[in-house]
Order: sequence, then structure tokens, then C-alpha cells
Amino acid sequence: MQNYREAARLDALHQLKLLDTPPSEHFDRITRMAAQIFGLPIAAVSLTDRDRQWFKSRVGVEHGSIPRDKAPCAEVAEEGHLVVIEDFATHPRYAESLLAEHGTRFYAGAPLVTKDGYGLGALCVLGVEPRLAAPEELAALTDLAAMVMEQIELQHAFGRIDPISGLPTRAQFRDDLADLALDCPGQARIAVIADLARDDQIAKIVGAMGAARLDEMVREASRAIQSALGADRTAYHVGTTQFAFLSPPDVDVAAYIAVIERGFEAIRATSSVRFVTSVAIGMRPFRLGEVPPEDVLRGAASAAQDARRNDGAIALYSADRDNEMRRHYDLLQDFGAALEAGDQLRLVYQPRVDLATGCCLGAETLLRWRHPELGEVSPAEFIPIIEQTALARPTTQWVLDTALDQLAAWQAAGLELTLSVNISAANLMEADLIQRLQLALITRQLRPAQLEIELTESAMMAEPEKALAMLRELAEAGIALAIDDFGTGHSSLAYLQQVPAQVVKIDQAFVRGLSAPWGADYVLVETMVDLIHKLGRSVVAEGVETEDAAKILAGMGCEEAQGYWFARPLEAAAFADWIAARTALAA
Ligand code: C2E
Ligand code: MG
Ligand code: MG
Repeated sequence: MQNYREAARLDALHQLKLLDTPPSEHFDRITRMAAQIFGLPIAAVSLTDRDRQWFKSRVGVEHGSIPRDKAPCAEVAEEGHLVVIEDFATHPRYAESLLAEHGTRFYAGAPLVTKDGYGLGALCVLGVEPRLAAPEELAALTDLAAMVMEQIELQHAFGRIDPISGLPTRAQFRDDLADLALDCPGQARIAVIADLARDDQIAKIVGAMGAARLDEMVREASRAIQSALGADRTAYHVGTTQFAFLSPPDVDVAAYIAVIERGFEAIRATSSVRFVTSVAIGMRPFRLGEVPPEDVLRGAASAAQDARRNDGAIALYSADRDNEMRRHYDLLQDFGAALEAGDQLRLVYQPRVDLATGCCLGAETLLRWRHPELGEVSPAEFIPIIEQTALARPTTQWVLDTALDQLAAWQAAGLELTLSVNISAANLMEADLIQRLQLALITRQLRPAQLEIELTESAMMAEPEKALAMLRELAEAGIALAIDDFGTGHSSLAYLQQVPAQVVKIDQAFVRGLSAPWGADYVLVETMVDLIHKLGRSVVAEGVETEDAAKILAGMGCEEAQGYWFARPLEAAAFADWIAARTALAA
């Protein structure tokens, strides 16, 4: 019985994950007060581990821990009550202890007891003279010990209960799943993640009604989900608007999907947020102990994303999609390091050729990433991942700085050019974008007209009004604008007409196959060129891979072209060589 109690006590202590953690002012403050109240030089928060007393906080103590054997703090922990030793020299139990050997004569320790009644250790004070302890002093020590326990419990709960919903967090889900796997290994379960709203819906709610409304919505949803689950099952709050829970053991997947569908139908019917959000649910069947808890969660989350993408309400986990998500996640993690590494990112330059004269007056800068393990990763893959994150800003800044450094270097070498830089929708939301562009130009003594910004139609349409205001500022600053990938995005011609762009780049999807006047692409491209000209803009065709295509485009009156037929995107030195060779040829 005694052994069982001690094992449970040690368990309680270890679960708090306090042992061997660094000192903390929260505890030191209390320890100092204890020393002051007694007017003694030594005080400590001392935790009773299997065979040591480890000090979470100490005043006047040199060692980080002492052996548990014959330490009075161990008695405090085991018995759960105050221990006072007025004089070690005459004490039957402690006269021979390590502390006595080192000159300790007085000790008072108040127990640190958890809500479940386990003694973790003591808040203690020590003196080198024999002494009595006044009842008020011991009362104060007991109060301070209670404060230490509050601090311990606070720290433990931190990160485990979400402050908004009051539900256990992702960290708790992981721990509970690991515990469950120990209890019932191999048992079949389904992890369910319900994602309340799309990112843009969240942004709209916060924008229109404030963050407090979002919190309220999250609270309402958590109450609804928890009450649908019943008192004996737990809902977890695992992301801003994401909730997770586990199915009962061994349910039939198809039947459980129906149960979940009905459950959320009922929640939707009564929820006040049903008009502004759409719930997506992901389900990941697994066996306890066979899939790491973090993978269970990620699998369910990736299924929820699938559901969202397909505009469905529910999707089941797929391993292929999970691998894709994992790669996304890894790339995102690694890109931040790439920005700092200095040797992973570089720019290449693809010439833009004037179709009437054959001259090259400028180039598009394209970002390249050589990942230390994965090798070259295409911007078509990593840009869409990072541009939705806080990395969008430093990335564009890096590209801009590197491109303009290169432009300045070429200019100094007598090469007059215009460079185009691609930016993301997120960059348009940066209030200081234009100032940063101007600053980057001025510090290198470059003219605004030497820089062109490329932006896709879709990027402009994310926040059309804001985008338009920003683009007008850009135009006022004298920086050129090109509409990229024309023909592929969803946009409105009425809107495009208002965009102050000089150039429209027809997407390569229409241009690559351009061969003869009877193809479908021919008609499309001809119509686009016509339309763009009528709107008063000039045309750049992207993806010109053949001489035929170049000739057809020239015949249509398309001003400039870009593509493998002229040159692939080139490293800076190769670009300079290419342009020198071309000029020599023309001369
Ligand atoms: P984009 O801006 O439309 O760039 C043109 C893409 O077409 C480039 O792909 C280029 O290498 C490719 N290309 C050029 N000529 C041909 C051709 O004749 N045939 C074919 N099949 N392809 C051709 P890349 O470099 O892989 O870039 C893909 C996209 O990634 C870019 O499309 C752009 O949207 C984005 N991107 C690249 N660099 C940056 C950057 O620095 N910032 C941002 N925000 N996006 C970038
Ligand atoms: Mg581009
Ligand atoms: Mg393009």
C-alpha cells in the first residue's frame, strides 16, 4: 500500500514536468518572501523525487539537489504536514543527517500538496542557529506553500486548456491519445476534425464584427460540439476554428459518417453563425498505438482541407493527400531558413524580346530555391505555399533587393534594362509596400520606370478595392505594372479596365500550342491581343516555345514575347552574355 502510494505520488510529480526545468522568477519571488519572513538566509522550493530533493527555487543554497535520504523535506512530502526542527543537534532522526553535517541547526517546511492530495515536496527555510518557530511564521509559510502550488498548477494548465473555448488543447489531445494507446493498444477509432470556417470567412467576420465576435462564435461552437458529444466524451480545441474528438471504439466508418453528418446538421440548424460560415469535417480512421498522435491529428486536418476544397461537408483521410500536406508543411518550415541561409535562394532572368525589332529591353526575374535535401524546388510549388503566410513580405523584399542590386550592377556596366518582379496578393496588403519599392530604387539610384511589378488577375481580385488603391499609388510613383497570367484567373473586364497597367501578359497556356491559324488557341490569342489593344495596353506573350508561335504573335501585333524559343530563364552572368551576343549579332 505504502509503495503504491509512493508510486502514485511520483507519477503525479513527474506528470507536472517540473523536475530539471530552469529557475523561474514566479517561484523565486515566493522563496525570497519565505526567507524574509523568518529572517533566515536559506529557503527553497524542494521537490521530492525518487531519490533526491530537487530545488525548483533556492535562496542561499548552492546545490541543485541533495540526496533524499534523511532530508526533512522528504518527510514533509511523505506525511503531507508541517515539519519543524528547532535544533538538529538534539534531534533523534536528523542529528546525523547531511544538513546537520553542513551546520544546519533549524528547519521549517510546509508541504506542497496537489488537489489530489499528493505531497510533491516542501517550501522550507533553514538556519544555522537553533531557533523556535512562531505560529504566525508557520501560518505564513503554509500560505506561501499554497501559493507555490497555485503557481505549479497554473503552469501545468497553461497550454492545456484553451482560454477562449475552455476546451483542452492540441497538446492535451496528443497526451490523451498517447495514454489511451497504452490502455487499449490496437483499438479502432476515428479522429474527427471539424473546421468551422474558411480563412476568408474568418477574416470577414473579424473585419466586419471584430475579434470578439469570432471568440464568441468559437465559444458557441465549442459548447454545441461538447454537448452533442455528451458528458463522457471530450472535444478538443486544436486550431483557431478547429475542434477535434474521437469516435467511440470499433464503429463502422460509413455509419459513423452518417452520425456525424446528422450531428452537425443539428448544430447548424440552431447556430447563429450558420449564415457566415461553412463547416468542413475530416475523418481519419486509425488504430490506437499504431499511428503517432500528431499524425492522427494531421491526417484528420488534411481530410478536412480536402472536404473544404471539394466544397463538401465531410472527407475521409487519404494517404496521398497526407504526403502532399506533409511536403507543404516541410517546405514552409524550411523556406524561412532558406531566406536566412544566403546560399539557397537566387534569381534567374528571362529575357523579354520586342517582336518587331528583336531587341531585348528587359527581363523577368524568377526566384529559384535549391533546397539542401530536396534539390531544386519550383516556385510554382513553393510560392503558393509561402505567399499565404508571414513569409510573403520578407520573400518579396529579398527578391526586390536582389533584383535591384543586379540591375544597378548592370547599369554601372553600361547595360540599360527594365526588370519585372512578381509580387503576391499578400504584398498588396502591406501598407508600406510602395515606400519600400521607392526606397529600394532611390538607394540604388535607379529610375522608377526601370522596375515593373507583375501581379496576376486573381491576386488583384482577392481584395479588389484595396488592390486598386494600392496599384494607383504604384502608378503615381512611376512604377510600371503588368497583369500576369492573363486569361487564367477569375476577374472582371470592368475591373481590369480600371487597373493602371501598361502591360498585359497572356498566359503561356494559350501561347505554347500556338502553331497555325486554324487552332482554337489562335482564335483565343488573337481575340485577347485585340481586346488588350482596345483597352490601350500593350501585350506580352508568355511561353513562346517555337519560331512559328513567335511569327504568329508578331503578325497579330503582339508587342513583346518571352519563352524558351528566345531564352530560358538565365543565371545573371549567362543573361549578360546572352544579351551581349544578341547585340553583337544585331550590329
Ligand atoms: P510567371 O510569373 O508567369 O513566370 C513565367 C513562368 O513560365 C516561369 O516559371 C518561367 O520559367 C516559365 N516559362 C517561361 N518561358 C516558358 C516557355 O517557353 N515554356 C514553358 N513551359 N514555361 C516557360 P517559373 O520560373 O517556374 O515560375 C513559376 C511561377 O512562380 C511564376 O509564373 C510566378 O507566378 C511565380 N514566381 C516566380 N518567381 C517569383 C517571385 O520572385 N515572386 C513571386 N511572388 N512569384 C514568383
Ligand atoms: Mg510573372
Ligand atoms: Mg505568367
